[in-house]
Amino acid sequence: MNSAVLIPVGDELLNGSVIDTNSAWIAAKLFELGILVKQKICVGDQIDDLIDAISRASHIADLIIVTGGLGPTKDDVTKKALCIWSGSELKRDAESFLRIQNYMKERGREVNPLNMAQADVPAACAVLPNLNGTAPGMWFEKEAKVLISLPGVPYEMKAIMESFVLNEIRSRFARTIVLEEILLITGLPESELALKLESFESELPDTIQIAYLPEPGIVKLKLRMVSSPSDQASDKVLLLSYLDKAANLVGTSVFGRNLDTLESVVLDLLRKSGKTLSIAESCTGGNVGSMLVNQSGASDVFAGGVISYSNEMKIKILGVKEDVLNAHGAVSQAVACDMARGVRNLCQTDYGLSITGIAGPGGGSTDKPVGTVWIGIADHMSVQAFLCRFESNRARNIRRASLEALNILRKKHLGFLGQSL
Ligand code: ATP
Ligand code: MG
Repeated sequence: MNSAVLIPVGDELLNGSVIDTNSAWIAAKLFELGILVKQKICVGDQIDDLIDAISRASHIADLIIVTGGLGPTKDDVTKKALCIWSGSELKRDAESFLRIQNYMKERGREVNPLNMAQADVPAACAVLPNLNGTAPGMWFEKEAKVLISLPGVPYEMKAIMESFVLNEIRSRFARTIVLEEILLITGLPESELALKLESFESELPDTIQIAYLPEPGIVKLKLRMVSSPSDQASDKVLLLSYLDKAANLVGTSVFGRNLDTLESVVLDLLRKSGKTLSIAESCTGGNVGSMLVNQSGASDVFAGGVISYSNEMKIKILGVKEDVLNAHGAVSQAVACDMARGVRNLCQTDYGLSITGIAGPGGGSTDKPVGTVWIGIADHMSVQAFLCRFESNRARNIRRASLEALNILRKKHLGFLGQSL
């Protein structure tokens, strides 16, 4: 496997004010190409530190990627360091100069000397055009090492990587390809999942690795295989056959694969059968609605809802009966059912979903500890509510309740839920 060293540059990365997301993104992209990042050497805006980092990196790896420090201000030292490393002087790149002039003109801004200076690059490099900003990227080759310098602004860096750099790296360095397939599972704790997959795991060939990646409310099951360009197609078929096997064993808790989200899956399912949805949210405060409208085209399915945080709102808008509230409390099966029915009637949708619970950290009791959540679902035939017991952390309870509500809706729609009440 070829190796790389990443050098993110910037004082702001060292003093904690900006998180180095560039390195994580680049490392993941290189990993897909079978290139292992051996080290990340994060340096501030000091030229000596950067020169030292580049020199150390070139002893470790064939590929070095520097991000940041290309701006027009004095604190940006990357180009000076690269002049020294490559033994060349700054030279104006005519194409970049034109591009910067046009970039400023399109935005109605005057080109100043600092902008102009961004078209100056060490003579030894090949220029990587930056269509989203003014600092071009640079590609150097020296003593069988490739060094790529990219802007620090994440979307500028990504665009240059995707339009040119990754393809070039693939053709130069990639001897191996890492294949990955992910199964997305919700409503099943990691330990129970592992038990279901015990014999599956022991039967996996040595060439396939399995990883459990849990996050609140979801477990990602990843199967990974190192392949080569010539075996890629057949290895992918093999990997998918194992993923299908795992999906069959896990059953209805599998909601999707790879980049799917629960909200996109639910919206797609409902859209395909022409169903509409409304939601009454108490403890999640609109989070489920927000998750849905983050998906484009949500309006085909999601009509709207009510954030009925207080009892008064539950009574006035959703028609929850006062005596039911008094008898059972807001966090109860009866109220969850009334909320789901109420919002469905109000919005005239096929499904009404409701969430009422105690997110914490305060408000819990022995009967109803923090993390107690009731989720209701109503359709034209029936209404049901389900009790969930989550944890003590407010943010995680909101996230988990939101996911579980969407999952209950998914299961209801697919006919996986039990008896109605
Ligand atoms: P440009 O000239 O296009 O502004 P630059 O190379 O000068 O790019 P910097 O000035 O170092 O880049 O950083 C620009 C912005 O990108 C800053 O807001 C910085 O916080 C952010 N940034 C820099 N490096 C990283 C990184 N490794 N991860 C995430 N954000 C970063
Ligand atoms: Mg900087």
